[in-house]
Amino acid sequence: MYVSDILKKKGAEVIAIGPGEPVAAALALMQDKKVGAVLVLNEDRSIAGILSERDLVLATNRLREKVFEKRVSELMTTKVVTCSSREPVCGIMGMMTAQRFRHVPVVDNGQLVGVVSIGDVVKSRIEEAESEVEALRRYIVT
Ligand code: AMP
Repeated sequence: MYVSDILKKKGAEVIAIGPGEPVAAALALMQDKKVGAVLVLNEDRSIAGILSERDLVLATNRLREKVFEKRVSELMTTKVVTCSSREPVCGIMGMMTAQRFRHVPVVDNGQLVGVVSIGDVVKSRIEEAESEVEALRRYIVT
């Protein structure tokens, strides 16, 4: 199973916001789209950063109500790790575990083609395990 298989099912939609947007806009977007992170894109669609629930929780603890005075660019992570759609899902899973993040933008030939979350990865691994069990069951029966 490859990252491209996940994207075939979930599509290429990327929930994104601009770096100059207020934090409240990012929160509203995350609530509206029911996602745990938003990708921060420059006007040319290059990746400026990623802003996740964890960034917002830690910033809220640090800044209290002043967190709402901040722009997305002030709280986001700027060194974003990406993957290619040709990578196997188990590799992405290892990367997420080792580096302790749950979202990976997918970039092919410099073009952003989607985002894979830990939820997508777990779902694909479960589906893979189920189809292996089914294949074995059929093999045993026949
Ligand atoms: P998450 O587990 O995805 O909510 O993110 C945990 C922390 O890692 C936050 O500080 C995020 O901004 C950061 N983060 C999330 N995804 C990535 C990524 N692909 N590359 C680098 N940092 C990330």
